[in-house]
Amino acid sequence: MISQHLIEQARGRIANHVVRTPLAISTSLSERIGAQVSLKLEHRQLTGSFKLRGATNAVLQLSQSERDRGVIAASTGNHGRALSYAARVVGSSATICMSRLVPENKVSEIRRLGATVRTVGSSQDDAQAEVERLVAEDGLSMIPPFDHPHVIAGQGTVGLEIVEEMPEVATVLVPLSGGGLAAGVAAAVKAKRPQATVIGVTMDRGAAMKASIDAGQPVQVKEYRSLADSLGGGIGLGNALTFPMCKALLDDIVLVNEREIAAGVRHAYEKEREVVEGAGAVGIAALLSAKLAHLKGPVAVILSGQNIDMTLHRKVINGLI
Ligand SMILES: *Cc1c(COP(=O)(O)O)cnc(C)c1O
Repeated sequence: MISQHLIEQARGRIANHVVRTPLAISTSLSERIGAQVSLKLEHRQLTGSFKLRGATNAVLQLSQSERDRGVIAASTGNHGRALSYAARVVGSSATICMSRLVPENKVSEIRRLGATVRTVGSSQDDAQAEVERLVAEDGLSMIPPFDHPHVIAGQGTVGLEIVEEMPEVATVLVPLSGGGLAAGVAAAVKAKRPQATVIGVTMDRGAAMKASIDAGQPVQVKEYRSLADSLGGGIGLGNALTFPMCKALLDDIVLVNEREIAAGVRHAYEKEREVVEGAGAVGIAALLSAKLAHLKGPVAVILSGQNIDMTLHRKVINGLI
């Protein structure tokens, strides 16, 4: 398991490269819940998500020769952006592999951040095969999106900031997919405040971590399209760290549906004046859905990302989704 000590070290290591995001009281959610609710505005992080913390903590621990050879991942989303940015910061280079079917706007966004994009094949599996080839042939370092000790420790710094600013925190709501954020945050929060409750929130369709915990081992789930696209994907059948950590440290996992996620994005915009992507709004969605009975305050809700297509965002705001 990733210890509090590793998370504190990560914080010092990445401090000059990431933003310490605000923890802001939400009056509208506090009134609604009847307890103080604060929002960790991590969607305002550089590159638009917390993924920068883990990626930065990982690249900073590479040796000079590893940095010279470069880093690699197969991710079209927030991890790809974060790794591209982090690599440039340490003077390394990132290669991001993706299928030829990935839309051009995602490709150009990753290029804009300075990475080399390799488009291969027609699936995420083809992209991952290309990653493995380049790791074997060219000695690039693969930085995975969640199941890696340096990545988990980096994401855990979000939790560290929450307990430091709000030592009396009773409940933390954390968006959950592969579990890097949830594992790191739960480790950090519970080390300082063991009596706090940490609840993972994810979409009801394709909830891989929930299905795996229920099954007692990592399992594969069917994937569906979701407004919370950053929560898609499995946890890996060979999962080494985030599965056991989430199993041990999360008090509960709450599932929200597409309608509830849309309501979360709308609430963030209209009441909090924040542009948040679907994955980033699941904590608000869970609070609004009243699926969390007897919630103890103060509550901290992590808004994890802002990278939503603005045409889609407008549709959600206009109630068309
Ligand atoms: C990656 C991501 C998540 C889920 O994080 P995991 O570490 O995979 O559980 C949540 N929200 C956003 C915006 C993300 O990019």
